[in-house]
Amino acid sequence: MRVSVKGIGFDRLSMEEAVRDAAALMAEEGGHYIVTPNPEIVWLARSMPELHSALNGADLVIPDGIGIIYAARILGTPLVERVPGIELTEHLLDICAEQGIPVYLLGAKPGVAERAGENLKKRHSGLVVAGCGDGYFQEDEPVLASLRASGARLILVCLGFPRQELWMASHRDEVGPALMLGVGGSMDVFAGDVKRAPEGWRRLGLEWLYRLISQPSRIRRMIKLPVFLLSVVWERLLHGRASAEGTE
Ligand code: UDP
Repeated sequence: MRVSVKGIGFDRLSMEEAVRDAAALMAEEGGHYIVTPNPEIVWLARSMPELHSALNGADLVIPDGIGIIYAARILGTPLVERVPGIELTEHLLDICAEQGIPVYLLGAKPGVAERAGENLKKRHSGLVVAGCGDGYFQEDEPVLASLRASGARLILVCLGFPRQELWMASHRDEVGPALMLGVGGSMDVFAGDVKRAPEGWRRLGLEWLYRLISQPSRIRRMIKLPVFLLSVVWERLLHGRASAEGTE
């Protein structure tokens, strides 16, 4: 069951259910990908048809931002809860570590994925990091060859949006049997270069405010959040609940 927020169908899943479904995708044959859109990505997709298709074409569409949760509620079709991509990743890494499933870390500036890998191996005992690569490559083929050769079943794709969503959608069938997870700036957090908001801020749904205070240059990006929410309120007023009913 998907809930439409501005044309993007979000899976109505709790964190526990998202972990279960993602783990199942990791074990399946073929290539799969998960997207974790926030309001900024959804907003951009309105003017970028290929991003729109890449998001809706994902195996799972996870509500990462609190703005998506508010929007779904305003539309009268609430989602279960916020499922931060970075937390979903940590749960999947636990499963990979327990079961010896190899993981590939792709993205961020040169050297960051390697440092992230070292930290993650300390936190998830037994984790197998089968390969690392930065996110500033020009040619896809060597990267795809490296992903396939690594035998990784979980690939963290942290190329920033919209590049990571477009990249995963166009290479789904070229990564071998594997699940790609597009989780933006998470590699920088795993490497210890960027700090997440403290637990209290997160519980209050204020992670965005913490990020704004610690990186004021994000203001240009975040200014779109109130515009997004106002447009959702407008949609609800114009069309009522029906326009937001599930899409699947
Ligand atoms: N990035 C990358 N390749 C690119 C553009 C960006 O690997 O071509 C990385 C960048 O170094 C950073 C991440 O993508 O690690 C995006 O970070 P941001 O904080 O913008 O992520 P978001 O807000 O999307 O979670």
